[in-house]
Amino acid sequence: LEQKMIRAEKLNIAGQLAAGIAHEIKNPLTSIKGFYKLIKHGMGKESYYTIIDDELDRIEQIANEFLILSKPHTDVFKVHSISRIIEEVKTLLETQAIIKGNDIITSYQYEEELLITCEETKIKQVFVNLIKNAIEATSNGHIYITVKKRGQFVEISVRDEGCGISNDALARISEPFFTTKEKGTGLGLLICDKIIDNHNGTRKIESREGVGTTFTITFPLMKSPQPSIPVDPVLLSEHSI
Ligand code: ADP
Ligand code: MG
Repeated sequence: LEQKMIRAEKLNIAGQLAAGIAHEIKNPLTSIKGFYKLIKHGMGKESYYTIIDDELDRIEQIANEFLILSKPHTDVFKVHSISRIIEEVKTLLETQAIIKGNDIITSYQYEEELLITCEETKIKQVFVNLIKNAIEATSNGHIYITVKKRGQFVEISVRDEGCGISNDALARISEPFFTTKEKGTGLGLLICDKIIDNHNGTRKIESREGVGTTFTITFPLMKSPQPSIPVDPVLLSEHSI
């Protein structure tokens, strides 16, 4: 029985991953198709090529990410600046925000660069999913992204002025395939939660219907570096006696 359950669980995860790939690739594909059609009909602009290039890069990135995922032990955790990651995601989604009349406003509230040990593409995926949801929920509004230091953690909040989430929906929000969107897959938040969990992070939602939604994420900061002045090990052991 146990063997059967493990197998069922594996199939379930495989299915979720397959749907996840489709979900993440659908958006850039839609955009490429749209701009390609305009070019084909002689309505092309120079800037469309840049957008198509960026979206193709995005698909390539996702494909690479899933290739990494399919190979065990190749996950690379490295030290990254959270503000750089957020800025890169913002650039990626800016056009989608503008199309809906939304402004993305970032605010960095800390003294020194905040560093986390993470898989960069995964953390980007988290913020792509959250900011995309914010854009989809909001028209002609603001999306505020705030990065703060909270003790040994970095706290990133994504606040929108969108439709908000009903209590019923809130209770089911991270169920796989739960979506209130015509073309949604309901996998975005599931993927977010898995990645956040893998990075020992936390996620919290506050939402009011008709007012907006705030997602608050925390990740542990990189442990403070070793003292830059080398300490003589002999001295250390003498002191500790
Ligand atoms: P999808 O975006 O494909 O629907 P998600 O897992 O990303 O799947 O989100 C699940 C559901 O959670 C959405 O369909 C929506 O109802 C709700 N949701 C998530 N983020 C927001 C938000 N910022 N504002 C309003 N509703 C949201
Ligand atoms: Mg989504």
